[in-house]
Amino acid sequence: MSARILVVDDIEANVRLLEAKLSAEYYEVLTAYDGPTALAMAAAEQPDIVLLDVMMPGMDGFQVCRRLKDDPETRHVPVVLVTALDGRADRIAGLEAGADEFLTKPIDDVMLFARVRSLTRLKTVIDELRVREASGRRIGVIAGAGSRLGGTGGRVLIVDDHERQAQRVAAELSIEHRPVIESEPDKALLTARGPVDLVIVNVTARSFDGLRFSAQLRSDEATRHLPILAIVDFDERPRLMKALDIGVNDLLSKPIDPQELSARARTQIRRKRYTDYLRDNLDHSLELAVTDQLTGLHNRRYMTGQLEALVKRAAHGGEPVAALLIDIDHFKKINDGYGHDVGDEVLREFAVRLASNVRAVDLPCRYGGEEFVVVMPGTRIEDAERIAERIRLHVAGSPFRVAHGTELLTATISIGVAATLGPDDTPDALLKRADEGLYEAKSSGRNKVISRAA
Ligand code: GH3
Ligand code: MG
Ligand code: MG
Repeated sequence: MSARILVVDDIEANVRLLEAKLSAEYYEVLTAYDGPTALAMAAAEQPDIVLLDVMMPGMDGFQVCRRLKDDPETRHVPVVLVTALDGRADRIAGLEAGADEFLTKPIDDVMLFARVRSLTRLKTVIDELRVREASGRRIGVIAGAGSRLGGTGGRVLIVDDHERQAQRVAAELSIEHRPVIESEPDKALLTARGPVDLVIVNVTARSFDGLRFSAQLRSDEATRHLPILAIVDFDERPRLMKALDIGVNDLLSKPIDPQELSARARTQIRRKRYTDYLRDNLDHSLELAVTDQLTGLHNRRYMTGQLEALVKRAAHGGEPVAALLIDIDHFKKINDGYGHDVGDEVLREFAVRLASNVRAVDLPCRYGGEEFVVVMPGTRIEDAERIAERIRLHVAGSPFRVAHGTELLTATISIGVAATLGPDDTPDALLKRADEGLYEAKSSGRNKVISRAA
């Protein structure tokens, strides 16, 4: 998987070295020699990863990082800070500034590519979500961007059989999160399926295989999005590499530094909330796109798409499709006599009656105002007529309870019925015939079902 990487360092030799290493692995490399240029390039070029030197004159790496993370246009781009070898204070300051990863100088090739690979993977997911969110916003169904997404108050699952170490980690995290400890992997897998924001796994545990456990988290649909922070021994290089291969998000080396622990936990939780936020917005936008907000029925747009596909199938020798076009009689009088809110209540209750009087395969939709359509796959016109008659009776036969049950109100409906006729039939023609039936029902006294066979 290739990616565009922006390398930022004030020393040209450092830039050239990284550029050479990354290009050799077929990454596309952009370069900048100071903070302001880096910010401008990040905004203009939208790189997949920024490799950022901490020590730069003028605007240093922390400032650049903070600016990138504060800007909604670049917030999602992973930032790897390049620090001095003994730069523990730098690392903590960097995590506070929102950095996603660290590399220490001199840069170890294996670590460089492992981190770049894992961040590229994450970036791909985030990009996908952002694209879908953007298209959702274009069709006007997504509320504005979320507020700042914090990294505290997270539910953290600690999976460790080393009791004292687990207790220390929990004590440190409980300052700003809600940690729970689990020493058995089977129980931990169950807990992880519940509300959890971060899993910390000791992959050096004695009584279970932490790598296997991490792989299980990654393969289970319910837990595969959870961030995993692995406790590792930096001397055990193969296990460490394996952990990154499995898709562990970050590493904590033993002995655990409490400040680094809390900073890394915060970063992972913040990132999870960002992706959750995008994902939730996406689900919500998909739902809004197909659902009528007042009644919860399918909306017209959804109905139109479904009807088109079904009519096409019917035209190619598939089963016939029927449609009911339903309009509430004298609905204006209900609004005028009882108020618009009561009118809404009638629409909602009608929707419930409609939905409960059709089959599961039928699609009851709100067509607009006080008009509804039911699309009925695999249905001949005689059967559609019978179902329409049943709905009509169910509405006329029992009054609507409105205004908190204090008022009873009788309403009636008129229905036009049509079904597909042959290979040349279209959704528009089908709905037009149903509309003609409806018109006839209205003009001949209302509270009627009229079908149009041709
Ligand atoms: P007819 O029997 O000929 O269908 O008479 P009608 O009064 O039902 O028909 P008309 O189309 O003249 O009026 C429909 C009314 O429905 C007008 C509009 O204000 C009202 N309406 C449309 N959408 C809504 C809604 O979401 N809520 C409420 N309360 N009223 C709505
Ligand atoms: Mg009406
Ligand atoms: Mg009407």
